[in-house]
Amino acid sequence: MTFILNTVLPALVIAAVVTTLANTATTVYLHRGLSHKAMVIHPAVAWVFRLIVWLTTGIKPKEWVAVHRKHHAYTDVDGDPHSPVLLGWKKVQKDNVALYRMALKDSSIVDKYAKDLPDDAWDKYMFGHHKTGLGLGIAILIIAFGPVTGLLAAFIHANVYLAVNAGVNALGHHFGKRPYNNEATNLQWLAFLTMGEGLHNNHHAAPSSARLSHKRSQIDPGWWVITTLQKVRLISLRFEDVRLTPAAKASVSTSGD
Ligand SMILES: [Zn+2]
Ligand SMILES: [Zn+2]
Repeated sequence: MTFILNTVLPALVIAAVVTTLANTATTVYLHRGLSHKAMVIHPAVAWVFRLIVWLTTGIKPKEWVAVHRKHHAYTDVDGDPHSPVLLGWKKVQKDNVALYRMALKDSSIVDKYAKDLPDDAWDKYMFGHHKTGLGLGIAILIIAFGPVTGLLAAFIHANVYLAVNAGVNALGHHFGKRPYNNEATNLQWLAFLTMGEGLHNNHHAAPSSARLSHKRSQIDPGWWVITTLQKVRLISLRFEDVRLTPAAKASVSTSGD
């Protein structure tokens, strides 16, 4: 009982905070900002997001962007790095990291899909060393909260972050509502766990838009972060409101939402 109160509960709270930070940086910075250029982020805020990505995810931004843009270029057809339609949702859920690494084995993918994101000095000396960042992130948790609580928090965070983000690629192209006629789906519960990413059908219908909620009943926590930063002029949006693709406009499905 003492172990649960003194170690497990604090580790759960710490992991929740770290995962929320990682998911916020993933959806606002890596996905909506960098991959789709849905907004311009003030360099100081972008730097903080880069730091969070570096310490909490082990992701190199331009690699993530390249794999993600390829997913949009070949959504659920041959060439998609992680399509449940082609591979089955269970495989994508289970092997999301392996599929991501496999996509990066194609040495031309970054040049082809993320040419606009050349390394700067920060990448060269700091953010490009993704394993160092992840190690430092774990070390910070151990120093701040002790080895057992710190390591347990890191373990919980890593598993939840990987599971929910795999969920966007796997569950988010299989289960859920399809208000627009594309293979992706909306799952509000997954959106709560991923700062909005679970509204994935909406995203494929309007990839250049920063807001993933298209109706009052849909909740996109990442959008709250964006509008807060917009109010203090640290973010400016490319489009003020949702901008559907011509295909999405033409093909609002009858499945409803
Ligand atoms: Zn998708
Ligand atoms: Zn996207």
